[in-house]
Amino acid sequence: MKNLIFFGPPGAGKGTQAVSLSKKLGIPHIAMGDILREMVKQNNLLAERVKPYIQKGELVPDQLVIEIIKRRLDRLDCKEGFILDGFPRTIKQAEALDEYSGKERPIQKVINFVTPEDLIISRLTGRRVCRNCGANYHIKNMPPREEGICDRCRGDLYAREDDHEETIIKRLQVYNEETRPLIEYYNDKGILINFPGDLPLEEAQEKLFGLLK
Ligand code: AMP
Repeated sequence: MKNLIFFGPPGAGKGTQAVSLSKKLGIPHIAMGDILREMVKQNNLLAERVKPYIQKGELVPDQLVIEIIKRRLDRLDCKEGFILDGFPRTIKQAEALDEYSGKERPIQKVINFVTPEDLIISRLTGRRVCRNCGANYHIKNMPPREEGICDRCRGDLYAREDDHEETIIKRLQVYNEETRPLIEYYNDKGILINFPGDLPLEEAQEKLFGLLK
């Protein structure tokens, strides 16, 4: 059983690493941001409720994201473990997760991606995402073979609406105020591992795999 959290500010590199690690370890990658963006596409009342928070770079209310994560963790594919990415983001969410996972399947490791702020900003402003399969690219560091087109599925690549400088600054501020305190929360439990978020992709993958396998 491997119950993991990939932790860090937006643009720390946790999502990119989680995608490949989840394949190697055979456990699902659960990205709260992806789940919420899928919800927003539905065009219903719930979507209307969630959308403004994401657009402004603010956090969606705890109660809702806690409900979503519980439902997702209940699914059978999480039995052997999971990688949480973008959850928890507040102390309240972390406490709810502890309460839910309890002693039977506690969180075992929290990988804290430590990444300099200037690198975060250049990563996010250059990020492009596939509209179809969600794969991530970067216009300079990880460009697709053909401009604007996904290597994997030939879907359209786009810049996320919240990956613009003003919203990025807001998201980093929210991280510092509401999410950063979780470092102490998990450090006190003795399960936090600091991991450099500025390593070349392959090197980071090898190191992480070594740490987690
Ligand atoms: P991300 O893709 O992780 O950068 O998340 C995009 C946006 O989704 C965030 O800026 C928040 O508005 C929302 N979001 C993602 N995860 C959470 C969470 N755990 N709690 C509240 N809001 C979240």
